[in-house]
Amino acid sequence: MTGPLAAPEGDPVTGPLAGPAVAVVVARHGRLPAGAAEAAAEAGGRVVLVGSGVGPEMAAAFGGSAELYWAQTGTDPSRLASVLAPGLDAVRLVLLPASPDGRDLAPHLARRLRRPLLAGAVRASVEGDRIEADLLRVDGRVVVPAAVGQAAVATLWPGSRPALSGDGRPAVHHLDLPPWPAGDSSVETLELVEPDPTTMDLGDAERVLAGGAGLIPQGSDARRARALFELLIEVAGALGASAGATRVVTDAGWMDYDRQIGTTGVTIRPDLYVALGISGASQHVGGIGDPACVVSVNLDPSCPMTGLAELGMVADATGLLLELAGRLGVAVPDDLLELTGDR
Ligand SMILES: Cc1cc2nc3c(=O)[nH]c(=O)nc-3n(C[C@H](O)[C@H](O)[C@H](O)COP(=O)(O)OP(=O)(O)OC[C@H]3O[C@@H](n4cnc5c(N)ncnc54)[C@H](O)[C@@H]3O)c2cc1C
Repeated sequence: MTGPLAAPEGDPVTGPLAGPAVAVVVARHGRLPAGAAEAAAEAGGRVVLVGSGVGPEMAAAFGGSAELYWAQTGTDPSRLASVLAPGLDAVRLVLLPASPDGRDLAPHLARRLRRPLLAGAVRASVEGDRIEADLLRVDGRVVVPAAVGQAAVATLWPGSRPALSGDGRPAVHHLDLPPWPAGDSSVETLELVEPDPTTMDLGDAERVLAGGAGLIPQGSDARRARALFELLIEVAGALGASAGATRVVTDAGWMDYDRQIGTTGVTIRPDLYVALGISGASQHVGGIGDPACVVSVNLDPSCPMTGLAELGMVADATGLLLELAGRLGVAVPDDLLELTGDR
């Protein structure tokens, strides 16, 4: 089914997207951003999928009861807003995942649609003639309720809610969008820089190398522990991966909280997850998504993490990290040189 988004000049905009809420998701090279399925669920299953490498086969990612409208487009936020805005005018609540592209596009859409932007929500809904949202503020420590008496655009943090269930067959429609504007952009794209795995949002990482309490040898002081986790970040970067950690590690101050994976940390969705010295507690495993490949390095062959791994290595995690550093040409800090001698 095809639905034209552009309304004729001067006509009231109705169109195929008219309704209380819709999620707008920007994919790159066919990869959905973190939080895409949750934004779709918050919008009642209605989702507009745009960007590069998208197609009808991606509908399954949004759950069986989803209604997907898709179109191949560019990712320039200003141009994207100009082609999407006419059809979204008839939608009261336009929700985007608070992923990098979602956060870029949302203000452009709000400006085009002349609406307020409710940025960084953990909940957003249409309540009568109001849009209500709970907004996360102060580094995620405070939830501020907000309400506006008009249509709005909102961004939803990944991990705020579950996605829709996978049962059933999603309804899929192709969207005919207006032609991609040539010169109508406030943004000039000079170069597209791929994210650096050592600093990118952990939730968007395709490969994650994570460390737990087992990475720190008995009797280590805080300085050595922090040096080992610095090395983990370097080795992960050399492998094109992002570094993560368990709560034991972040609570000890050996790594920042934005690297904590789990139910009270970041929800990740990598293709490859490598766990160094991690037992696999449910609160940790609850945040690792469904990776195609899990590798567990642990001295205990019967720990839960090794039980769910595709590859379980019964080995010393610290030794393996130092060995990897040596083979990848990553400099081992002075604080750790004595460990290389020990092994
Ligand atoms: C309300 C609540 C919320 C929580 N939220 C989170 C969360 O979001 N994220 C999270 O991670 N945790 C969370 N936790 C904590 C969680 O329950 C576990 O305590 C934690 O995940 C365990 O971390 P760990 O695997 O690093 O440590 P441990 O459980 O102590 O495991 C260490 C592992 O290292 C292995 N090991 C030891 N020495 C070596 C060696 N030399 N080489 C290789 N392996 C070795 C051991 O066999 C063991 O399996 C939460 C807990 C609660 C109560």
